[in-house]
Amino acid sequence: MNQQNGFDYLIVGAGFAGSVLAERLARGSGKRVLVVDKRSHIGGNAYDHHDAAGVLVHRYGPHIFHTNSSEVFDYLSQFTTWRNYEHRVLASVDGQLVPMPINLDTINMLYGMKLNSREAEAFLEALAEPRESIRTSEDAVISKIGKELYVKFFRGYTRKQWGIDPSELDAAVAARVPVRTNRDDRYFTDSYQSMPRHGFTRMFENMLDHKNIHLLLQTDYRDIVDVIPFDKMIYTGPVDEFFDCRFGKLPYRSLEFLHETHDLERFQAAAVVNYPNEHAFTRITEFKYLTGQTHPKTSVVYEFPQAAGDPYYPIPRPENAALYGQYQALAKATPDVHFVGRLATYRYYNMDQVVAQALTTYKNMVAAGQQATGSANGANSHSSTKALTAV
Ligand code: FAD
Ligand code: UDP
Repeated sequence: MNQQNGFDYLIVGAGFAGSVLAERLARGSGKRVLVVDKRSHIGGNAYDHHDAAGVLVHRYGPHIFHTNSSEVFDYLSQFTTWRNYEHRVLASVDGQLVPMPINLDTINMLYGMKLNSREAEAFLEALAEPRESIRTSEDAVISKIGKELYVKFFRGYTRKQWGIDPSELDAAVAARVPVRTNRDDRYFTDSYQSMPRHGFTRMFENMLDHKNIHLLLQTDYRDIVDVIPFDKMIYTGPVDEFFDCRFGKLPYRSLEFLHETHDLERFQAAAVVNYPNEHAFTRITEFKYLTGQTHPKTSVVYEFPQAAGDPYYPIPRPENAALYGQYQALAKATPDVHFVGRLATYRYYNMDQVVAQALTTYKNMVAAGQQATGSANGANSHSSTKALTAV
């Protein structure tokens, strides 16, 4: 059902959250969907495109797909084929480029030693300073590897990236990066690690390619929300903005991206080089490592963290969680709007987690539709096809 032949759903945002739900509602439930994004492109922060030199780059910084969820991987595999890619990162520390996450080679290179794994374990154990409770990112790191390595690899990077000290940030942030005593130098260990073969944007184009999906770019939803009729909304922008920041602005960390193309085949020794202690930027990414593209030139991006600007990262710390809790309560009290995604649910989610959240939201919507139809008809004997269209 839709008002005056309008849309069943208005979806705000064409990133992972919005696009997965658009695809599911249109293809899975036959709904008519309008997807609106204020940017000039689909894909949200995962958007990639060919730059002036013809190198495939990620406009909003490096996006590396990895997941342990076969459901998420299988779902996305309907819209892309993949190129296997295992991500590796080096950190510039004490004048050397060493593997990050810290591993056996990092320790040996840094201290000029030849430890084996068992000895490295004992080495780190001697450095570690156990803490009674692990609340902050500082606790998480120092309790594992001690103060010295914490300062070399984590403190400066985290202060730059978040604008606050690791002692003010939830433990989970720095705990995203493991510490190893073997020689595994992969950034991720997930069971699926691959990049969409023709890029993220092509994958999004395939997701959104359906007769029931209409796309409106360069449009703030607030400009059309009272003009175009629709039944329900899915909102994937910043949750505080939806409610006119009535409890105050929810802090999101921003970034400025400096893109450069060089007349070289290779610019640096790894896909990403982190600079925990030097420079105002946190890391440099060279895209050809990620995409596997062959090209005589190469393009890189520098990330300069900022307080103001487009919202990219929710900032995980207790006071922000409390403020988000107030917005979350409002969101729950707004039943015709579903809040989904990294900005709308204020969660430091990777792409696969957003896909999983969107798929779960869709399943819940189907289940709620089933219940509503079931109770309205006093029966529960709908076929699954009928149930799916009851969203
Ligand atoms: P978004 O992609 O932010 O989409 C929200 C969309 O809503 C945006 O396009 C925005 O323009 C639109 N919007 C907002 N307000 C309005 C409005 N008022 N009207 C209309 N449109 C609006 N994840 C990984 O898994 N691996 C990585 O390597 C990785 N690297 C990252 C690197 C960086 C620098 C960043 C910032 C993130 C990275 N991520 C990574 C996380 C990943 O970007 C997110 O998990 C994912 O893109 C979130 O999707 P989303 O749909 O929730 O939000
Ligand atoms: N981090 C760090 N030094 C590094 C890499 C990461 O201190 O060399 C910390 C930092 O706080 C960072 C967090 O670990 O924000 C998570 O790192 P990740 O690479 O997952 O960040 P993202 O890719 O999401 O920006």
